[in-house]
Amino acid sequence: MEIRKKLTFQFLGIVAIILFFASLAIYISFSTSRKEEFFGRLESKTKLIAQMLIEIEDIDTEMLRKIERNNPLSLPNEKIIIFDYQNNIIYNTDESQLLDIPKESIDQVRLDKQIRFAQKPYEVFGAFYTSDYDRIVVFAAARDIYGFSKLKRLQLILLIVFIISLITVYFAGRLFASRALLPVTDIISQVNGIGVTSLDQRIYEGNRKDELANLAITFNGMLNRIEAAFKTQKNFIANASHELRTPLTVITGQLEVTLLKERKNEEYQKTIKSILDDVRNLNQLSNRLLLLAQASSETSETSFEPIRIDDILWTVRSEILKRKLNYTININFSARIEDEDKLKINGNDLLFKTALSNLMDNACKYSNNKTSEVLIDADNNSIFLHFRDNGVGIPKDELTMVFQPFYRAKNSTGVKGNGLGLSLVEKIVKQHNGTIEVTSTINVGSEFKITFPIF
Ligand code: ADP
Repeated sequence: MEIRKKLTFQFLGIVAIILFFASLAIYISFSTSRKEEFFGRLESKTKLIAQMLIEIEDIDTEMLRKIERNNPLSLPNEKIIIFDYQNNIIYNTDESQLLDIPKESIDQVRLDKQIRFAQKPYEVFGAFYTSDYDRIVVFAAARDIYGFSKLKRLQLILLIVFIISLITVYFAGRLFASRALLPVTDIISQVNGIGVTSLDQRIYEGNRKDELANLAITFNGMLNRIEAAFKTQKNFIANASHELRTPLTVITGQLEVTLLKERKNEEYQKTIKSILDDVRNLNQLSNRLLLLAQASSETSETSFEPIRIDDILWTVRSEILKRKLNYTININFSARIEDEDKLKINGNDLLFKTALSNLMDNACKYSNNKTSEVLIDADNNSIFLHFRDNGVGIPKDELTMVFQPFYRAKNSTGVKGNGLGLSLVEKIVKQHNGTIEVTSTINVGSEFKITFPIF
């Protein structure tokens, strides 16, 4: 069911319940007060008749009948029946015997002094009156024609008011519900207008205060994130294809030039060496891209096992030094490490090696002395790895950007690289529940610090 209809019917239901109980209360209170008033009049009647009979000495029932016949204040269809102390009727205006007063009722009047009951269509009031000489029971009965007709009219009025109110509330509810939901309809049509090619569009945020404005603000926030992710993705693909195409173009050019004419052996060797260099770079690039994809995927099937950090550091160090003979990598242990067996984390050997190797390699690569200082530190909860160098440093405004794929700082020109290393390191560290921080001063040096919770 549409929300508009639901709201209308809920509103209608609440109003119907309130109206019903309000009408019921009005009806009951009116009906009770009619009854009270009518019995009050019947009581006055019995009192008057009894007074006449008891207090006026000369009056007899015949005279009473005459007085009563001409009484303009008589009630509609009024009947009076009086019993003496032996239950004999001493006065009765009910000639056609429409009323039937049972003996028990007479006894009860003597007991309770008063009695009220209904004998359709009459309402009957009985009372017990005594004097020194008399003990009489007087019953007065009559039909409350006016009272009941008023009650009927009230019933009709309440029913009409009930129906008209519900109809009015139904249409008013529909109108208000439609008005209240108009901004939602508006948001839906705006959202429908946003496609892959128009991700820069935003939803109108109205007064920026109510719930719907909040919805629009939240949605716009999500659009901002989607747009940014889309841009990153696009840039990534553009950068990746550029990085792959450039060495391929260079290789093709070199081969074409070499093939133009017959060349000496040394020249062929020089070309092949240069091409081998490019192919190695291409290989490293495609490996890094693959690892990046693997480290970025949430449902990565990377297997994790307990690994010793210091062991991996030594292995990575010797692998780098085998390739780069001019590099120096010094590994130091903090004095507060008492038990080296505690330097364990739950991780993936290959990914972890890649991350540490990138940090060591960068430290040497971006410093004149080609030296990297590694410090292993730990407290009770965490392991800290510091990679320090005395190199070119990273400009302050670029400190966070260096973790973006393919981003290279302005001062890195002249040093070979593709800008993928640090983004890969950050992804791997995150995957291992770690954090990475960088501090750097231009032409003084840089320090990368990674922290892992102890396994
Ligand atoms: P690459 O080294 O291949 O360019 P990285 O992702 O490893 O890519 O590094 C990104 C950028 O961060 C580098 O281009 C460089 O500008 C800067 N950088 C990284 N490590 C260092 C360092 N130790 N000293 C100075 N600059 C660094």
